[in-house]
Amino acid sequence: MADPQIVVIGAGPAGLSVALSLARRGRSVTVLERDPAQPLDDPAAAYDRWSRPSVPQSPQPHSLLGRTRRALRLHAPDVLARAVQAGAWENDLRARLVGDASRPGDDDLVAVHCRRPVFECVLRRAVVDEPLVRLLSGVAAEGIELHAGGSGPPRIAGVRVGGDSVRSDIVIDASGRRSRVPGWLESGGVSLPEAQSQDCGVVYYSRYFRLRDRVDYPAWTGMLGPGGTTDSRASASSLATTARLPLCWECRRGSRD
Ligand SMILES: Cc1cc2nc3c(=O)[nH]c(=O)nc-3n(C[C@H](O)[C@H](O)[C@H](O)COP(=O)(O)OP(=O)(O)OC[C@H]3O[C@@H](n4cnc5c(N)ncnc54)[C@H](O)[C@@H]3O)c2cc1C
Repeated sequence: MADPQIVVIGAGPAGLSVALSLARRGRSVTVLERDPAQPLDDPAAAYDRWSRPSVPQSPQPHSLLGRTRRALRLHAPDVLARAVQAGAWENDLRARLVGDASRPGDDDLVAVHCRRPVFECVLRRAVVDEPLVRLLSGVAAEGIELHAGGSGPPRIAGVRVGGDSVRSDIVIDASGRRSRVPGWLESGGVSLPEAQSQDCGVVYYSRYFRLRDRVDYPAWTGMLGPGGTTDSRASASSLATTARLPLCWECRRGSRD
């Protein structure tokens, strides 16, 4: 296939990353995103300005672990640099190693702490700046079109959007954990391997605090920062616990006692 039509469903971190990667290798890509377009001019303000109804965890503090930072360092250093410029904190975890635990490759033991909209804004900016990417916001994929593949399995022909169709030879499903693509494939006669999932039974609650002038981030005691230290002098406190504890039910009810 000389120049396949590639459609990515979803412009979260996975969809944006794959679109960026393909475009920088000379491939044209169309990205469909159900949520409305977001302002890209001010990453540090993205937390206040972005609305992500399809991604409920979006307001939670996020930490990118060393492997993700390494991927950015190697393949999209401009995105990493822009995230840091926007206030993301590169947290060198080597300081936490005890005794002779250091190993070759430890240089990449650096986490990046950041509110998710800040990182997503920076990543999306890089993607929309790519001439080979067409990002359509507010456009939900509603189904896929398949045509019979002779003796083989059905082949992708397009993605249905708003009564229309976007022609595609390759569809990349990056629509997150509530993806409807497996159901669409199965109803088109494609048999899929069994998927297993399990409720982790953990919930967490977070609250951000703006640091006063001349006040530093709180002392860092956990693996991922002090309850999720974040960017731009906003510090987060997170409480993660089992969904079964009575405390959680009190929090859910909004108790402040
Ligand atoms: C509470 C919580 C905290 C987390 N903290 C961290 C963390 O600190 N660090 C970390 O690395 N990960 C964290 N994660 C995991 C992280 O959020 C997910 O791994 C990440 O969101 C997966 O990215 P994604 O792009 O695959 O999917 P998503 O982020 O879910 O993005 C999917 C995108 O697809 C779009 N979409 C869905 N359906 C359609 C459709 N039909 N048509 C068009 N668009 C569609 C959605 O609008 C969305 O933009 C956390 C998750 C949770 C729940």
